[in-house]
Amino acid sequence: MYNVPAESIYSANHLRPGESIHIGQKLTIPNAKMLRNVISLYPNNKWKYIIIHHTATDIGKASLINRNHQDRGFWNGLGYHFLIDNGTLGKGDGQIEVAPRWIKQQNGAHCKAGGMNEKGIGIALVGNFSQDVPTPSQMDSLVYLLKTLCNYYKIPAYHVKGHRDVDGANTECPGSRFPWYSVRQCLSTF
Ligand SMILES: [Zn+2]
Repeated sequence: MYNVPAESIYSANHLRPGESIHIGQKLTIPNAKMLRNVISLYPNNKWKYIIIHHTATDIGKASLINRNHQDRGFWNGLGYHFLIDNGTLGKGDGQIEVAPRWIKQQNGAHCKAGGMNEKGIGIALVGNFSQDVPTPSQMDSLVYLLKTLCNYYKIPAYHVKGHRDVDGANTECPGSRFPWYSVRQCLSTF
């Protein structure tokens, strides 16, 4: 993400390659360049859907939501696979945070309905789109993420759904003001 080789990060932090680090641990990234979004991809044929959520909060970041989901008893903390930040709590506007459960290719804890936790990639945007709309940078990152994932996992555009559009889900998520029109338009052009 910062265009710094892993070896430099290991040595700057006195870590052995492969050594475990924990959520919230501060790392020094020497000679960090400007942050860019990196989507790691893993061969896996279980991902058939993408489910979009909002956090229903004005501010947020992955480590905070991780703690919140843990407190609510969600299996393994942060229930989504990706979180797209809105420039609050020190995160970049449009920054894509990759959750540990994506790196480990674990089931989600974001949408029980329709068995989506087992076959759906969960993406959440920080914000409350019952009242607001996502920032332009969040939308750019979402489209980039959707295109990358749909392409790699061969997920058709009609399998990209809002949480509330999954049969049996009883929620407003990701909010009535979520701009589906522009998402659908972007997805139809690749
Ligand atoms: Zn949701």
